[in-house]
Amino acid sequence: MADPAECTIKVMCRFRPLNNSEVARGDKYIPKFTGEDQVSISGKPFMFDRVFGSNTTQEQMYKASAQMIVKDVLEGYNGTIFAFGQTSSGKTHTMEGSLHDPDNMGIIPRIVQDIFNYIYSMDENLEFHIKVWTTTSVFLLYSSLSVTKNNLSVHEDKNRVPYVKGCTERFVCSPEEVMDTIDEGKANRHVAVTNMNEHSSRSHSIFQINVKQENTATEQKLSGKLYLVDLAGSEKVGKTGAEGAVLEEAKNINKSLSALGNVISALAEGSTYVPYRDSKMTRILQDSLGGNCRTTMVICCSPSSYNEAETKSTLMFGQRAK
Ligand code: ADP
Ligand code: MG
Repeated sequence: MADPAECTIKVMCRFRPLNNSEVARGDKYIPKFTGEDQVSISGKPFMFDRVFGSNTTQEQMYKASAQMIVKDVLEGYNGTIFAFGQTSSGKTHTMEGSLHDPDNMGIIPRIVQDIFNYIYSMDENLEFHIKVWTTTSVFLLYSSLSVTKNNLSVHEDKNRVPYVKGCTERFVCSPEEVMDTIDEGKANRHVAVTNMNEHSSRSHSIFQINVKQENTATEQKLSGKLYLVDLAGSEKVGKTGAEGAVLEEAKNINKSLSALGNVISALAEGSTYVPYRDSKMTRILQDSLGGNCRTTMVICCSPSSYNEAETKSTLMFGQRAK
């Protein structure tokens, strides 16, 4: 049974394999794995709750980093899992993977399956309501670019709980319906990006699943929700050679990532002040970060010598949460 007073932030680190173009360029494979919880880059050690090498399977990753959160959500707790790292470091592979391929599914489809399997195994006195929303174009929250379709904005309800207007929201009855919602979100994002003159592939995508259950015999109710966040690439703006509106957007993304870093490190330090209100994303996630919530950060890294500087700064970001 989870202890409500305990606030643990877990930080996992995953290295993808070298890709074909890195191999073709003759890049070196730089991480040295020294135990289950430590990796060294050019002799500098970094410690995490767990470190996963390049041949870790999707199933191993899920079991070691995400599966336990499902139990918490079904017991009525909230939680958040983030994937952080530069573009092409394996964030989407880790969070989504192949949505329709059982071997290569990432964390999101596996969580959804486990939640539904639990529900299917329960007796008749329990009534479940699963609600999912997803948006892959939430970067518009941080952006001053004007886009008419999928224009999202943060509002607060009468209890000052922030919510996102303009995203896809619906009730679902099976894992397949959830996967369809994700596919639809991606199609929407594709439209939003194509509608902009300046092309950008950088965005945060947030997936939320809310499980409400009621025991019809005792009228006892429980509600838990999970945010699964595939963060925008954390690379420095300079490297991408961005200009104009795209540069502004990149700065906003970097601002929102550093606001997230500040919130996570304030929580990790047990500070009495946590700066949730410094960014729209942390306002959205506020009731699922800190307090009695389960928070897991998956730090995703390239193993290539070409990306050494970015990899080190990614690892440093992860260490702030410890
Ligand atoms: P990001 O979302 O961080 O930009 P992706 O998840 O899209 O990165 O990964 C970039 C590429 O590397 C994709 O083609 C993906 O399939 C591949 N990849 C990422 N992680 C792994 C891994 N652990 N094993 C095999 N291929 C991977
Ligand atoms: Mg991605």
